[in-house]
Amino acid sequence: MILTKSLAEIEVMREAGRITAKALRMVGEAVQVGVSTVELDRIAEKCIRTEGAIPAFKGYHGFPATLCTSINEQVVHGIPGKRRLKEGDILSVDCGAIIDGFYGDSAVTFAVGVIAPEARLLLEATAASLEAGMSRCREGMRLYDIGAAVQGVAEGAGFSVVREYVGHGIGRAMHEDPQVPNFGKAGTGPALKLGMVLAIEPMVNAGAYDVHGLSDGWTVVTSDSSLSAHFEHTVAVTENGPMILTVE
Ligand code: MG
Ligand code: MG
Repeated sequence: MILTKSLAEIEVMREAGRITAKALRMVGEAVQVGVSTVELDRIAEKCIRTEGAIPAFKGYHGFPATLCTSINEQVVHGIPGKRRLKEGDILSVDCGAIIDGFYGDSAVTFAVGVIAPEARLLLEATAASLEAGMSRCREGMRLYDIGAAVQGVAEGAGFSVVREYVGHGIGRAMHEDPQVPNFGKAGTGPALKLGMVLAIEPMVNAGAYDVHGLSDGWTVVTSDSSLSAHFEHTVAVTENGPMILTVE
């Protein structure tokens, strides 16, 4: 069942989103050659707790950290650790915060120093695919209009969209109905209604869309070791169109 949120609930979710966005901004400001991903994790956790919120991922199904940090061919769910960023890396940072029982969820892929032209194109196409998907977050559109828009942009740029991991409804739980795939047929799926809140999160690979998990039980990588990028926002369907909640 797809829950809808009242305007008052969406206001609380804006606060969860603002704190999530602030943590991601602070992490982005700290991204540079030589920084370890666990140092970035500490920055995010401190930011979220200072705001009076709770890191949403820490302890979620046993996940050990505030951030998911996924480098290069890592797609999602990488665990922060001692690995230091190198010139030319791309780093996906996924972050969530809970305040007053509501969740925010957002991700950005950062460039570390100067990155290869193909990596730059991948980041730009993935960000553009998120924009296209969010633009469909309107009353009267259908759920798979979002995925079709994401897929059109990503594949139009010569990349592929991950099939095994998808976006999701979000509210008092991080993952609510519906699943929001990054592919699909326009004009199909449930009708979008006012008050629905969705986390839209294209995961786009430079090579094939196949992925698999590593033995740490969390990290997902591209099966052909090609680069992967990930951008995410939490978005509400409102009378004024799509409202991005994960912004400062
Ligand atoms: Mg996320
Ligand atoms: Mg998410």
